Amino acid sequence: MKLQRVIQYAQNLLAITVTNGDTVIDATAGNGHDTLFLANLVGDKGHVFAFDVQQQATIATINRLQENNLEHRATVILDGHENISKYISNPIAAAIFNLGYLPGSDHAIITKPNTTIQAIESILELLKVGGIVVLVVYHGHEGGKTERDEVIQYLSNLPQKYFHVLQYQFLNQKNDPPFVIAIEKVKEK
Ligand code: SAM
Repeated sequence: MKLQRVIQYAQNLLAITVTNGDTVIDATAGNGHDTLFLANLVGDKGHVFAFDVQQQATIATINRLQENNLEHRATVILDGHENISKYISNPIAAAIFNLGYLPGSDHAIITKPNTTIQAIESILELLKVGGIVVLVVYHGHEGGKTERDEVIQYLSNLPQKYFHVLQYQFLNQKNDPPFVIAIEKVKEK
């Protein structure tokens, strides 16, 4: 297959951006798959900050890191990503969001438009030129389409002098498949 699947595309964007020693963010840790992926990319001199509002998710993420002997490369924070600026002030190379609910958990605990946009705003302030924010947008659940539309509305209005924003989406798949939005900072304000 020549067209990369959505998750593969998202991970590839992170892989071509993040280098040894970088500070990066997993804004929705969930079961920790992306936190682990990022921990492998940043090396021993870099660091991952991972956020989730559910203790079940932070525990799963810490366990996954420990199983791979990489817990020293990450700080897993039980708090909303809208509070990122309370924890991080240094330049960020990349961030990833998986919007929606945690599979196998309470489907009522979902990411929300206002807090997602607030988190993106904070991260864009910290993002280095050449850095990237990747969102995997799940929108099939209740509330998902509202969040999708509000996030797209916000990102469509980012000034193109400073940010390049793209959407990567299969158009002919059934059942609201996820898609990727990526934001690259091209110039400091
Ligand atoms: N990337 C994860 C993985 O590898 O398993 C999946 C993430 S799941 C689609 C979305 C996660 O966002 C859930 O675990 C949920 O608890 C979390 N979440 C919801 N609101 C949040 C918020 N305001 N801040 C941080 N995480 C939040």
